[in-house]
Amino acid sequence: MDKHVVIVGSGLGGLTCGYLLAKNGYRVSVLEKNAQLGGCLQNFVRGGVKFETGMHYIGCMEEGQTLYTFFRYLALLPDVKLSPLDKDAYDIISIAGERFAFANGKERFVESLAQRFPGERSGLLRYMQTIEDVANQSPMYTLRHTDAMVLLNPAYVQQSASEFIASVTANSLLRQVLAGNLPLYAGVKGKTPLYIHALISNFYNKSAFRVVGGSDAIAKSLARSIRAMGGSVRPCAQVVGIRCNDCKATGATLNDGEVVSGDYFISNLHPLRTVELLDTHLIRKSYRQRIASLQNTVSNFTVYIRFKKNAVPYLNSNLYHYNAPNVWEVGAYRPSAWPSSFLYMHLCSAGGQQHAEAAILMGYMNFEEVARWKGTKVGQRGDEYEAFKRQKAERILNELEKQMPGTRANIDQYYTSTPLTYFDYTGTENGSMYGILRDCNELMQTTVSQRTKVPNLFQTGQSINSHGILGVIIGAIITAGELLGMNTIMSQIREMAD
Ligand SMILES: Cc1cc2nc3c(=O)[nH]c(=O)nc-3n(C[C@H](O)[C@H](O)[C@H](O)COP(=O)(O)OP(=O)(O)OC[C@H]3O[C@@H](n4cnc5c(N)ncnc54)[C@H](O)[C@@H]3O)c2cc1C
Repeated sequence: MDKHVVIVGSGLGGLTCGYLLAKNGYRVSVLEKNAQLGGCLQNFVRGGVKFETGMHYIGCMEEGQTLYTFFRYLALLPDVKLSPLDKDAYDIISIAGERFAFANGKERFVESLAQRFPGERSGLLRYMQTIEDVANQSPMYTLRHTDAMVLLNPAYVQQSASEFIASVTANSLLRQVLAGNLPLYAGVKGKTPLYIHALISNFYNKSAFRVVGGSDAIAKSLARSIRAMGGSVRPCAQVVGIRCNDCKATGATLNDGEVVSGDYFISNLHPLRTVELLDTHLIRKSYRQRIASLQNTVSNFTVYIRFKKNAVPYLNSNLYHYNAPNVWEVGAYRPSAWPSSFLYMHLCSAGGQQHAEAAILMGYMNFEEVARWKGTKVGQRGDEYEAFKRQKAERILNELEKQMPGTRANIDQYYTSTPLTYFDYTGTENGSMYGILRDCNELMQTTVSQRTKVPNLFQTGQSINSHGILGVIIGAIITAGELLGMNTIMSQIREMAD
């Protein structure tokens, strides 16, 4: 066959498409603007300690579970070492002065919360049952054969997550607790569809793991496999335009003028970045306007903490803390009252470790707070920007100290990133964490298709199907399925699982 597919961007979506297509006989070239591959899978090292930037824990990785099956097909299992999070408390929701643990498994999850909310057992059971039903009804999740274009039950798509949670319990604290993991999808009250909350909650409830030594192992493994199958993966290859003739795309122009021609093109970029690359009548003004008008999920400010040696016991849970009484409101924060919430996680440098070497501490942040430095370069944004970051870091570290007393004294050094950092490193609009925000009230308008009006140009990545490791891999299967047939890929995956 040997048709040439040019993939713009080496995020998880681009690399997964590259793997699927190379495995099925296509010639693949992945073009990445950064020196490091992986987009959100990038890690960086400071003072000998490695930090993850955008992939901290994954789920459904026990043998036979969905992501495990995908990982096996993608030849990731030998290269990606995992460390299980605490099965009794993979996530801890801290709110109103109390802590609530999420335990793995439907029954244990219910049991754990029913101890604190004894009158809510039936609501909790209903909650977990629906979460599981949403996942089980998705053929991509259960690896069933499907010819349907609709991959989810419309009821789960049209109801909001907040509405659903409110329907299972009238207890206002329990409602907050059940929504407490919403930074995983940057949920917005009344907008984020139930299916997003359900698929993600079910995913981690089945099993939850950190990647030992950093999530960049996933990008490195996929790139190695693509190269081993004859494809090329090129860092420092920024695409500045996608050339089209009257009816289709013909080449990707790099910043040094080189043109990489191909039979098919896949963009792994934020859809707004993709349309910017296209100067063709094939992409209509109305499409450009729609993409530009879409709301994006919020961004974040992160403190990357390096601890003194053997000083901080390893915390095998993720801590979601809220000062605010309503977890759905943390996205609409006032800068003067920031941070109203944070997410704190230790990074796993070795399996079975007793002490943490590093942690990340994240709070929501809107791009507007750093917009005045847009256009400046990483490391050269000036003193005011540095002062801004220091002030924000001190504030969020002080909040952490209130919840985890003694932590500050054990910090050797810390580093920070802002929405601008994400914008510069991944090109995602406004540094948005998960790309375009899905709105259950305007589902069609907020869904971006993998197809474009340029017939040989497709899109993949977190703004297309869904975000996160599972959402982006499933999205890549749908995108590569445009060339290979989705059921061909799914049959191969199933065959390997049998
Ligand atoms: C802070 C944070 C924490 C997260 N934590 C988790 C987690 O714990 N678990 C989980 O499952 N998910 C997590 N996610 C989500 C997950 O990381 C993303 O959904 C996923 O990695 C996005 O993949 P993508 O394919 O959309 O590509 P991206 O990661 O967006 O990569 C796009 C790539 O395209 C490149 N590019 C851009 N412009 C050009 C150009 N012109 N030419 C060439 N290349 C270009 C970029 O440099 C980048 O490498 C997190 C995300 C964030 C931001």
